[in-house]
Amino acid sequence: MPASVPSQESTRRPIKALPALLVDQIAAGEVVERPASVVKELLDNAIDAGAVRIRVDLEAGGVELIRVSDDGSGIPAEELPLAVAPHATSKIAASADLDRIQTMGFRGEALASIASVSRLRIRSRAAGEEGASLLEVEGGAASPVRPEAGPVGTVVTVRNLFFNTPARRKFLRTAQTEQGHCAEIVRSLAAAHAHIGFTLESDGRMLVDVPPGQSVRERAVAILGAELDAKLLEVHADAFDDARGLALWGLVGLPEVARPTNKHQRIFVNGRPVRDRTIQHALQEAYRGLIEPSRKPTALLLIEMTPEGVDVNVHPTKAEVRFRDQGLVHSVVHRAVREALRGADLTPSVRFRQARPESTDFGHGLAPPAPGDGSFARAFERPAPAPDQRFDFGALRAGVEQDRLASSPAPHAPQAAPDMPRARPVDRILQVHNSYLVTQDEQGVVIIDQHALHERVMFELLLERIASGPLESQRLLTPAVVRTTRARLDRLDDLRPLLVRLGVE
Ligand code: ADP
Ligand code: MG
Repeated sequence: MPASVPSQESTRRPIKALPALLVDQIAAGEVVERPASVVKELLDNAIDAGAVRIRVDLEAGGVELIRVSDDGSGIPAEELPLAVAPHATSKIAASADLDRIQTMGFRGEALASIASVSRLRIRSRAAGEEGASLLEVEGGAASPVRPEAGPVGTVVTVRNLFFNTPARRKFLRTAQTEQGHCAEIVRSLAAAHAHIGFTLESDGRMLVDVPPGQSVRERAVAILGAELDAKLLEVHADAFDDARGLALWGLVGLPEVARPTNKHQRIFVNGRPVRDRTIQHALQEAYRGLIEPSRKPTALLLIEMTPEGVDVNVHPTKAEVRFRDQGLVHSVVHRAVREALRGADLTPSVRFRQARPESTDFGHGLAPPAPGDGSFARAFERPAPAPDQRFDFGALRAGVEQDRLASSPAPHAPQAAPDMPRARPVDRILQVHNSYLVTQDEQGVVIIDQHALHERVMFELLLERIASGPLESQRLLTPAVVRTTRARLDRLDDLRPLLVRLGVE
C-alpha cells in the first residue's frame, strides 16, 4: 500500500451517540433556515393556541430579535419545560392522529430547534393561572421556571439567532432582506386567517396591521393590496365539490394583473401556505389563452379539505402537502377559476359566424355555441362552407412575409400548428369541454385548442394589419418602464422601425 494512503484502521472513528444539543441543532437545520422560519413557527403556535390578536416585533430583520406575542390559551407553568423539549407536543398523541391533523404544528420540535440556535425566552400564562411564568433557554440549556407578571397568552422572544452556529449565520442576508422574508410570512398567514388580527413592527416601523374579525374577502384584499380590488374576481367551488370534501374560495386577478413570476400566487390548504405544482398548474391552465404562457396569474386561493384528504407530513416546514386525490383538486381549481373568468366575460371565444365571401371571416363552418352553453360536450352541425370562403392563414402569412416584417421573430409565437387551419372543409365540429374543437380532414381527426386558435387568429389579424400600414396606436396614460440591459437596448434600437410600425414609441 502506498505510504500516502492512510490505513483505514487509523482514520476510522468509533460510532457515538450525538449530544442532545447537537441533535437539536441538526434538526434545526431543517426547520430554521432564517429569521422568517422562526416567525413562521411562532405564528403557527399562536394560531394553534386560538389567539385573536398576534403581534410580531423584529429588530435588525429578526437577526437580533424576534418577539411573537399572542392572547391564546397559554402554557401552564408546569408544562413550560416540555414546550421547549424536542418531540414534545400537545397536538398529537398517536400515529393515527397523523392522518387527521387539524393544527398548524404537530412535530413538537420547533421550539426545541429554535432554542438550540438562539437565546429563547417564553413567558406564558394559561387561563385560570394566577400569573405568568418565565422560562429561558440558551444554547439548549433551560433555566428553572420563574413566576412573572403577565396576561393570559404567550410571548416568545428569540434573540441572536444562530449565535452558536456560525456556519448558519454566514448565510443570513442583509437585515432588509430578512425583514422582507419575515413580512412575507406574516402577510401570508394573515391572508389565511382572516379572523385573527396581525401586526408586524420592524425596528419601530409598522409593516402589517390587520384587525381581527375581518371577512375572508376583506382580509384577502388587504393582503393582495387594495389597489387591486377592482381587478379581482371571486372564485368558488360548488356544493358538489363540498360533498366530495373540498371547499374552495379565492380571488383571482384579471389577466392584466398577471405577473412575470408566481410570487403573487398565494395558495393555502387548510390554512397553510403551500407551494403546490398541481394547483399552480390548474390555475395556469385556467388562464390559457388569456395571458401569455410565460406570465403567472395573481391569485389567492383558500382550499379546505377533510384532513384525511391531505397528507401534511411530507415536508419539514410543511411547505408542501400531498393530496390523496390530486385529480380532484386540479379539476376543482381549474373549473372554479375558469368559471370566474368566464363570468367576467374574459374567456376568449372564437367568433363563430357564417362565412361571408367578402369578409375575412373565419369561415370554418363553426357553428355558434348555443346560448348559455354548459360544461358538457356539445356537437354542432352546419353545412360546410365552400373551400374558397375559408380564411387562408397560409396565404396571408406568405403575403406578410414578403413584406419582410414577419421575418423577424414573432413576438408571441403562435401555439397552433401552422397547417392546422388548412383542414379540409369540415362537415362536423364537436366542441368538447368548451375548450377543444374536434373535426376531421382527409388524413384523420383534427383536435384544435380553441384558445390557441383564438390566439392564432388574433396573431394573423395583427400580421395582416401590419402588412397594410402602421397600426393605430394610443399613448399610455403613464409610460411603462421596462428595465433592460445595454445589449437588449442595442437590439431594441435595431428593431426600432418594426416597433414604430407596431405602435411602440
Ligand atoms: P408543535 O407546535 O409541533 O406542537 P412546538 O415546539 O412548536 O411543537 O411547540 C410545543 C408545544 O408548546 C405545543 O404543542 C404547544 O402545546 C405549546 N406551545 C407552543 N407555543 C405556544 C403558544 N404560543 N401558545 C400556547 N401553547 C404553545
Ligand atoms: Mg409549533
